[in-house]
Amino acid sequence: MIVFDLLCGDGHRFEGWFGSAGDFSEQQKNHLLNCPVCGIEHVERVPSAARLNLGAVEPEPKKSEPAPNQAGSMEGKDPFAIAQMLYSQMLDQLISNTEDVGKHFPAEARRIHYQEAPARGIRGQATQEEHEALLDEGIAVARLPVPSSRTWN
Ligand SMILES: [Zn+2]
Repeated sequence: MIVFDLLCGDGHRFEGWFGSAGDFSEQQKNHLLNCPVCGIEHVERVPSAARLNLGAVEPEPKKSEPAPNQAGSMEGKDPFAIAQMLYSQMLDQLISNTEDVGKHFPAEARRIHYQEAPARGIRGQATQEEHEALLDEGIAVARLPVPSSRTWN
């Protein structure tokens, strides 16, 4: 017996057990497979994880809904876990390219904006109020949630 991860045309994911890969093709061809959730017969096998090379994945601009075959290429990985991983890579980038100024962030962001300090990427902490004040002054700052599991340095 082999187990395939299957995906219906509606995006429901489930497992199917087959005697062989040929068995699966046969049943698919004869419309013997249907989704246990919605019952539709359009069922595809999720491609093998071997095709996925996460190391080469660049953080991409957000896509609304991944097409079934893209979701499928991430077999075994929860899309949420992938998003977390990409986010974590992005944080790594950010952390290695910015200077930690800690609580001086609002002051330092202002100094850079008004060219009283050398222009560079900085990171640090700011309260919601400080953040809004910076934005009001036209200073480009962004808030990023940092998972509590990771250190900021
Ligand atoms: Zn379905």
